[in-house]
Amino acid sequence: MNIQTLQSQLDNKQPRDILKTIYTQLDDLAISFSGAEDVILIDMACKLGLKPNVFTLDTGRLHPETYQFIQTVMDHYKIKITVLSPNQDALQALTHEKGLYSFYQDGHKECCGIRKVQPLKQHLTAYSGWITGQRRDQSKATRDSLNIAEIDTAFSGKNTELLKFNPLCHWTSEQVWSYIRALEVPFNPLHNQGFISIGCEPCTRATLPHQDPREGRWWWEAAESKECGLHSSLSKPR
Ligand code: SF4
Repeated sequence: MNIQTLQSQLDNKQPRDILKTIYTQLDDLAISFSGAEDVILIDMACKLGLKPNVFTLDTGRLHPETYQFIQTVMDHYKIKITVLSPNQDALQALTHEKGLYSFYQDGHKECCGIRKVQPLKQHLTAYSGWITGQRRDQSKATRDSLNIAEIDTAFSGKNTELLKFNPLCHWTSEQVWSYIRALEVPFNPLHNQGFISIGCEPCTRATLPHQDPREGRWWWEAAESKECGLHSSLSKPR
């Protein structure tokens, strides 16, 4: 599939129409659900009757509220969500060698690699495209040049290209929350406690109004490091 053609088809469309268009062109798509406000992708897909394949990464370190929210979403939309777990041998080796909080000392990449990146990589081999809730306004440092459609060079196979779609790319936080409130979409109760960007419990904290949402993630690391490896490849249209 030509990514430039796809880009021009999707460029001026709203998220709902982006979903409609890409599901017309591809039948092996997966939606990744982080347990946060990206729930609106599930809402839109279900209301379009798309019967989406949805997965989420259970790192084992999520907030109790997030686990409960994931179940709420399954029940609310009457869908199954594939819950991906880390490789137990790799995880055990890490915690045996470095304990449970090594990321505070030597950075989050190793732990995120085992708990998020590897399970994701394995799961995505079954798909030719995945859909994420990423938006440009989530981080000036790492998401400012996000595109609606990209080739994901980090997770593409040797002989296959993986497409990544970010239908909410150009939406603001205000638009997302207007949608959630207007359509009474379920949301993670942590948002009511000042959490904007929600990840694992030890690596997420609430932020103040007007702070960059990513400042609540891995706050002990530099701004440009605040990606967990899931979206490290900002592949450009070509
Ligand atoms: Fe580990 Fe923190 Fe990454 Fe979660 S966000 S996988 S706890 S380093």
